[in-house]
Amino acid sequence: MIIVMQEKATRRDVEDVEERVKGFGYNAKILEGTVRTVIAAIGDGRDKAQLQALESLVHVESVTPILKPYKLCSLEVKNTPTVINVKGVTIGGDKLVVMAGPCSVEGEEQLMKTGEACKAAGAHILRGGAFKPRTSPYSFQGMEEDGLKILRSVSDQTGMPIVTEVMNPRDTDLIYKYADIMQIGARNVQNFSLLKEMGKLDKPILLKRGLATTIDEWLMSAEYILSEGNDQVILCERGIRTFETATRNTLDLSAIPVVKEKSHLPIIIDPSHGCGYWQYVHPMSLAAVAAGADGLMVEVHWKPEEAFSDGPQSLKPGKFDILMQDIKKIADAVGRPI
Ligand code: PEP
Ligand code: MN
Repeated sequence: MIIVMQEKATRRDVEDVEERVKGFGYNAKILEGTVRTVIAAIGDGRDKAQLQALESLVHVESVTPILKPYKLCSLEVKNTPTVINVKGVTIGGDKLVVMAGPCSVEGEEQLMKTGEACKAAGAHILRGGAFKPRTSPYSFQGMEEDGLKILRSVSDQTGMPIVTEVMNPRDTDLIYKYADIMQIGARNVQNFSLLKEMGKLDKPILLKRGLATTIDEWLMSAEYILSEGNDQVILCERGIRTFETATRNTLDLSAIPVVKEKSHLPIIIDPSHGCGYWQYVHPMSLAAVAAGADGLMVEVHWKPEEAFSDGPQSLKPGKFDILMQDIKKIADAVGRPI
């Protein structure tokens, strides 16, 4: 339920309603607007009538149900875009953000060479996996803590914050120590215990869409994180499974306007996993920016032919540099400068 307070309501009035909401067994999320305060009452829907009756209080203007199954990430609860600040880089604000780097951290030289090239081309955030979700147990699984240390050192030297994946609740504390943004991969989008762990953190979470997840299911996964108290969630579309085999996945760019119509959370696009081939990364990146994405996540490798994972979809630094120049043109044209 959304409880809209009267314009003249005082802090004490808001606290009074908050206490009553909690007394009915709901969580109360206070959203201070410029004119009025709104209280989102989030719970399992029992005792709705009691909540509705709050409308009779003199400082309450209205009580209306939230129609969407996701609540805290819906525009009904918050109708201004969420802007996330990571060490001075903003995601979801006026500017477009580009995250770039290799699929996996493979060693110091690889990450430093790739990171420096990404930075020089204008990327804002460095990506790289230290814990890798691989289809085969015999494929490279990641450098784990050694990889995190390398990420941290390249981040310190280049000044780029880092985003890296957490696959298991038991690794949360370790990854939290090194990461600036915690990534939840496509395969874990409905790992609810992991999502709840992320909800308890005070760092941004990049939540990938699953291979076969509808947009509403994806938003419900985001809701798990927000409902635990962390509202710094970045959605990342990375392609879904369809019958098409010419590309690794089908990059669903229509998710951008759909998400924008439903949620205040920022959405970025990962054309690398979305397409699976480096040749398609450039055009799909431009299309994503034109369609209103808040940013991109692009795999770049200084020697893709030697990459331990996802070489075929990784751009060489020179190609990434050209991409960044073209992105700037589209970003300017849609009023989203880099
Ligand atoms: C990744 O970004 O490294 C990754 C494994 O992506 P996804 O979860 O989208 O497959
Ligand atoms: Mn990858």
